Amino acid sequence: MQLTFLGTAATPSMPIPFCVCEVCSEARRIGGRNLRRRSSVVINNDLLVDIGPDIATASFEHDICLAGIGICLQTHTHADHLDAEFILSRHADYGTKVSGDLLLGASVETLQSIERLVHQRSDYGSIFDPDTQAALHISLTPIAPFETTSVGDYRITGYPANHGNDQGFLLYSIAQGDYAVFYGTDTSVLLGEVWDHLQQERIMYDVVILDHTYGLRHESRPADHLASKDVIAHANRFRENGLLKDSGVVYATHLSHEGSLEHDELDEYAREHGYRVAYDGLRLLLRMAFKMRRT
Ligand SMILES: [Zn+2]
Ligand SMILES: [Zn+2]
Ligand SMILES: [Zn+2]
Repeated sequence: MQLTFLGTAATPSMPIPFCVCEVCSEARRIGGRNLRRRSSVVINNDLLVDIGPDIATASFEHDICLAGIGICLQTHTHADHLDAEFILSRHADYGTKVSGDLLLGASVETLQSIERLVHQRSDYGSIFDPDTQAALHISLTPIAPFETTSVGDYRITGYPANHGNDQGFLLYSIAQGDYAVFYGTDTSVLLGEVWDHLQQERIMYDVVILDHTYGLRHESRPADHLASKDVIAHANRFRENGLLKDSGVVYATHLSHEGSLEHDELDEYAREHGYRVAYDGLRLLLRMAFKMRRT
């Protein structure tokens, strides 16, 4: 399994275009890993998590072809995670030649929300209508919290996020063969029933990705996002409860300028506290059980 971070920023990107704070100014000066697009990841070359607004520019910059993506898991429809134009661009009106159908996996609420966004922007009809699905070359797979769905050789489980008020926002466990990734943004502290279910399933993850929006100088906010203190506590809990392989790594994503630091400094802090900080273009190759290397 291979995982690539297309983007690692919270809603307004990082640096924020109109911000002159110390973190944004330093990010602009240093560049490189300090320049973050909106969060999404690609697994292998066929599974995307979140059709965000920056997937195209990220794919150009990091030389990742998205034309073979056959599965998209959508966490939710906040604007930093979904740009419905990319779904519309699959229509024959755009002259697009697609490699195959795109399976859209999400909660029913998120699929309904995508339906409203597509409707606002086009007269293509309902995405729940088979004719519209055929025209857009999509199929829909509703994912219920705590249920595992098999798609190809992936085993996908949705977990309710602590983000917003019960609007079907999901985090995902994605397993393939001996490998497993937990994608945990956008969320505040994981809900008790999520921990209970993870414990029951006893999957040992290779990579756990967690929201880090509020960084070092703030607290996590309920039904919102995580801060570093709770990322550290979560990383410890994954390890201590046997939910992370010995070689497993916890990565922070969805970073924002508030409470953040220059990337290398922040990553050093994270390393000392049991996790790492992801950056755009970071590619993880999970090879042979218990062996992983970064490229
Ligand atoms: Zn977000
Ligand atoms: Zn700033
Ligand atoms: Zn969100």
